[in-house]
Amino acid sequence: MNPITKEQIVFSLQLGGIEKGDVVLMHSALSSIGFVEGGAETVIDAVLEAVGEEGTFAVSTMAFNHPYDPENDRSTVGIISEKHRLRPNSIRSLRPVHCVNAIGKRAEEFCRDHDKCETNCGEGTPYLKLKEWGGKIIMLGVDMNRNTTLHAVEDIMDSVYLTTSEVAAPKYMEDYQNKTMVMKRYCPGHRDFLRFAPVLRREGAMKEVLIGNAVAKIIDARKMFEIGEKLLSENPLFFTCDNENCTFCNNAHKLQAERDAKNA
Ligand SMILES: [Zn+2]
Repeated sequence: MNPITKEQIVFSLQLGGIEKGDVVLMHSALSSIGFVEGGAETVIDAVLEAVGEEGTFAVSTMAFNHPYDPENDRSTVGIISEKHRLRPNSIRSLRPVHCVNAIGKRAEEFCRDHDKCETNCGEGTPYLKLKEWGGKIIMLGVDMNRNTTLHAVEDIMDSVYLTTSEVAAPKYMEDYQNKTMVMKRYCPGHRDFLRFAPVLRREGAMKEVLIGNAVAKIIDARKMFEIGEKLLSENPLFFTCDNENCTFCNNAHKLQAERDAKNA
């Protein structure tokens, strides 16, 4: 296979519906694409070109260190995400665990106050801004189980298996050694998000294009929330699995039965 070029990536993104001015959040695996000329930096340049100067390009950078150090903690979700974080104009949100980085016109606004939100993925977070701003999610060479924004759907639907978690306060806080940060509706455990892909496809909320060897799923965030919220209101356990050996999902089923009994 010939090396994949920036022009080819831009072309595929446009084919998938990415337009100038778009706000996008990308999850990615560089290795799944094949040989990209210039590697991760080329992929970043291609997305920036596709959204243009009026657009905003964000990536998930997941950081699990406590205390969280936004200046120095590396992204744990791939080389494209890490190279994005290292760009001088890349802004990082100050939320431990579900932090994002953004470059572009609305980057600052996208990341703003993530640390002040009640939860990691809900009201006021970049994930909800994606919905409110009519943004798009790009899953480049990764499957639906990497789609963090689905935790935002669970958050606003108050899924029964979400928990309250307390972690060490982030390093930028004054006197952080003596403080903690509480995360409400925290989202640990197993999910079967894969089963959501056929639904999005059927409802016309997702386009799929090839970039090298990888499939890029390009999802309309607003439609994804609409569909996800409806599914969870019909079946609150839609994102859990039926494997009898899955402790997390089994417990979720028990918790839901208790909630249903209480509300009956
Ligand atoms: Zn499970």
